[in-house]
Order: sequence, then C-alpha cells, then structure tokens
Amino acid sequence: MSSAGGARTAQLRELLDDHGLDALIVSAPTNIRYITGFTGSNGTVLIRPDSVQLITDRRYTKWAADEIEAHAPNVDVVIASGNGLKELERLLESAGSIGLEAGHISWTDAESFQSEFGRERVVATTGAIEALREFKTEHEIAQLRAAAEVGDNALTLLIDELRPGLTEVDVARRLAQHMFDIAGAVPSFEIIVASGPNSAKPHHEPTDRVIQAGDLLIIDSGATVNGYRSDMTRSFVFGPPTSQQQEMLDVVLVAQQAGVDAVRPGVGTSEIDSTCRTSITDAGYGEYFTHGTGHGVGLDIHEAPSVSSSSTATLAPGHIVTVEPGVYIPDVGGVRWEDTVAVTTVGAEPLTRSPKQPLITL
Ligand code: ZN
Ligand code: ZN
Repeated sequence: MSSAGGARTAQLRELLDDHGLDALIVSAPTNIRYITGFTGSNGTVLIRPDSVQLITDRRYTKWAADEIEAHAPNVDVVIASGNGLKELERLLESAGSIGLEAGHISWTDAESFQSEFGRERVVATTGAIEALREFKTEHEIAQLRAAAEVGDNALTLLIDELRPGLTEVDVARRLAQHMFDIAGAVPSFEIIVASGPNSAKPHHEPTDRVIQAGDLLIIDSGATVNGYRSDMTRSFVFGPPTSQQQEMLDVVLVAQQAGVDAVRPGVGTSEIDSTCRTSITDAGYGEYFTHGTGHGVGLDIHEAPSVSSSSTATLAPGHIVTVEPGVYIPDVGGVRWEDTVAVTTVGAEPLTRSPKQPLITL
C-alpha cells in the first residue's frame, strides 16, 4: 500500500515551496490515499510546511486511525463535523496562500473556500500531487507487480475456458471471478471483452453477443492490489485465422514489441508512440491505429505520463507505462496487444507477462 511515512514529508514541504503555497488542501481520493493510506469516502488532506492532517468525519474515526497507523504514522487525524470547513478555517487562520486542487474540486466547494478564506488567499493548483505520484517507489512497484501477476494468473485460467458459445459478458464475469478467487482482487477497471465486429471498437463494453468460430476477440483487463492497478490486453482468434486476421495480429505484435523495446530512461514518451505508429503505418495499417499508444498506471488506471504523439514527458526510472497499439477495421474486427512496463535505471521491466498466443483451437 502507498506508504507516506516520514519519507514524503520533505517532498510535500518542497511541493508547497515550488507552488508558493502556505498550505495545500487535497480533495482527490487517490491523492488522499497516496499521501495517507486512507481509503474512506469522505476525507480532506491539509498539507502545511510542518504537518499533514487528514480531516474526516466520525464514521471513520477507527478506520482512519488504523489506516494512518499502518501507512503514514506522521499524519494527524482530525475528526470534524459536516464538510470540515470549520476545522480548516481554524487550522488555516495564519496561512497566506492556500492551494486547492483545481481538477478535483467542485465549483460549489471552490466558491465556499473562496468566501471563507477570501478570494485573494485561494490559489488553483493543477497536478501537484500527481507529479509526485508519477514516479513510483520500490514499494509501489512491488504492488503493481503483484497486481499484474493476479491479472496474468486470472487470464491463464480464463483462456482454458474460452470457446465459442460464451457471451462477452460471460467472459468478463469469469475473468473477474478468477481475480477474486486467486487473490480477493477486483478488476482495475471495467473489463473490456470485444468479440467479432465489436473488437473494432477500442473501448467496447461487454454485451450479450455470443462468441462465434472465426471471431477475433480482445480482452483488456487488470487487477487491483492494495489500490494499485494493472493493465493488459491480449487478442485471440477462434479457430484458424484468415490471412487478414493473421496479418493484423502480426503487425500489431511487431509494433508493440518495438514500443516495449524502446522504453528506457531518457526517451520521450512521444518517441514510444512514434515507434509503434511508424511500424503499423509501414505495414499499411496506419489509418486503423486510432488512439494513443499508452498511459501511466498506478493508483489510477490512467495517470501521468501519457504516451502519445502530443505528450512531452521523458521516461525516467519509476515511471510505469502501458504500450498498447491496436488496429481496428470497421465491420472486420480489431487487435490490440498491451503490456504494463516499469522503467528501470537501464531499461524496462515488463510487469504483465501473459504469453501472446492468440489461437484458440476449436
Ligand atoms: Zn488496457
Ligand atoms: Zn491501458
């Protein structure tokens, strides 16, 4: 689990300095979890130069105390009534500029902070905690590795059961059940099972469509371990592939491998995208690769850095990214291969490791 411990206090103090703040009010649940380990639904974190406080309500007195003790013993718990605004007012009496997370706070809440503290004291910040979260510690990478392993093992069990006659929903349910049976884990996002022509839609949601011989099938899934998520896509074909299906499977596989091979510190994430895109374009399928190549993964399934033609990030140790090129041909079907990889000091460690063997024999 994310362990704030003593180690993050200095980082958080530096973050206040960098943003010119006397205090930062954190409202995004995953940011709160990252800093404190707290998983309850109602919490606010107040970061000041010499303290980190979690403000929550009475329902969470014991829950918060337990999670803080386990993950971030240097954080103080403040039990407040209502939305905690009164407590914040008291705690922030002497603070000059107070940062809010602009991307995670409602208009209504931002306005009430402004009227409480005075418009000139309240500052909008963007991506402050996310910038810390982007670089994973060894402890976090261990959680991500564990999540990937649950995803791999669940998929292995599922592959033995894949056959025509199952619906997409059947497949998604079975995969989720395997994750639960293996590790008490829940999927890291709504599992994508896209069969036949549905596989031409990159973000298809499972339906009652019955899988048939000759179908392509995309399964995009992952598991959650201690809040950390894995993400992997495997493609399948039911019975001997047509030459077009075989070509699609091969073209995307070559591109994906080239993308993974390109992952190392110092490489721009846009280069990973162009590596995959060039490979697919040279094979004649460029117009069918209709999305970015990947994204960061951690406590959220999509987080920084993005891996696309427009991203400006440069890979560094601690980054976790997916490499997931695909081709999607309307009315025919689609193929996507995706792995989650950790950037190390010398290259990349694949976290998801399921084999890429698409053929399901009938
Ligand atoms: Zn995915
Ligand atoms: Zn993904």
